[in-house]
Amino acid sequence: MVERTSHLRVAMTSDCIFCRIISGAIPASFVYQDEHVIAFPDVHPQAPTHVLIVPRQHVASVSELADPELAGRLLLAVGEVARRGGVAERGFRTIINTGAEGGQTVPHLHLHLLAGSKFAEGSLGE
Ligand code: 5GP
Ligand code: ZN
Repeated sequence: MVERTSHLRVAMTSDCIFCRIISGAIPASFVYQDEHVIAFPDVHPQAPTHVLIVPRQHVASVSELADPELAGRLLLAVGEVARRGGVAERGFRTIINTGAEGGQTVPHLHLHLLAGSKFAEGSLGE
């Protein structure tokens, strides 16, 4: 179901877990937010720092992403989250899973920022 939230122009789906976090229906501590992008820690962290960077607008995946400005904003937010989290200098890994075979489990576009572990060089991860 698509609804209007209190945020003008921003559609959400009430059965989407990330839309519910963004709307405040499910509590989360936001480590970054602006008009278009929001970031919060992953509930099951895979590294000492594991943050999800998410568009406020419900976009299902990279396959559905059509707005180049939003794409840029998401990537810029990754850098900002890394700087705020104190991991920009040491480095971090950014992952986007897309679709069933890509391992995506939440159908609301999100970028994983993982840091605090030494990831294998050149590896695409497990
Ligand atoms: P995906 O597998 O779709 O790339 O990543 C989805 C991520 O969302 C997983 O790492 C999972 O732990 C996280 N996640 C699922 N439900 C919640 C939730 O309710 N809150 C938070 N903070 N993270 C969630
Ligand atoms: Zn959503």
